[in-house]
Amino acid sequence: MTAESPSHTALVRRARRINRELALLYPDAHTELNFTSPLELLVATILSAQTTDKRVNMVTPTLFARYPTAADYAAADRGEMEKIIQSTGFYRAKTNSLIGLGQALCDRFGGEVPPRLKDLVTLPGVGRKTANVVLGNAFGIPGLTVDTHFGRLARRFGWTTSLDPEKVEADVATLIPRKDWTVLSHRLFWHGRRVCHARRPACGACALARLCPSYGEGPTDPEVAAKLVKSGPFS
Ligand code: SF4
Repeated sequence: MTAESPSHTALVRRARRINRELALLYPDAHTELNFTSPLELLVATILSAQTTDKRVNMVTPTLFARYPTAADYAAADRGEMEKIIQSTGFYRAKTNSLIGLGQALCDRFGGEVPPRLKDLVTLPGVGRKTANVVLGNAFGIPGLTVDTHFGRLARRFGWTTSLDPEKVEADVATLIPRKDWTVLSHRLFWHGRRVCHARRPACGACALARLCPSYGEGPTDPEVAAKLVKSGPFS
């Protein structure tokens, strides 16, 4: 921490204010993937790599009906599964992950999705981000889901200087109450897609302007900024 950087206490105070403001802006922020069980969310999250939630939601009704249990994924016919998930892209790798996932769940976890980060990250196709999505949204166990939007916004807010998702996660965890971790992840994702874009953030139309140390990184003219705001649908 340099002489000019805010004290940790000031940083915490500002981070919580930003979190409260985001809660007002996006009161219904949530995952846009459809699921009814931890297994379904795990599968949907694996499929969501490099594609939109909307596209995933188009294939999952057929997929979930065809493979209701981990054992069904383990015993799946590769060609048949590839055909079902083809439109989500990278379908060969994703099929490998899903069949491997089913086998690993049956071999090591009695066919159930384990509710622990350290177990989840041992599964094929499951990194820390996916594991936290499942913990937070299917098990109600708070998790910070550091995707590209989350990392960018956390850096702009001065919550971290790191590009490493694990370090970002650790830095933000010291600022935001644990109970808010899952919903904060959704809120950052929503704000990143709508207002705080990677290339031209809409600073002049941003409700966080007075709290954000990066105000001015994008156009501050209200009319110019208003045109940059995206209203969706996104998924
Ligand atoms: S003020 Fe600008 S940089 Fe800060 S959150 Fe808003 S859009 Fe992003």
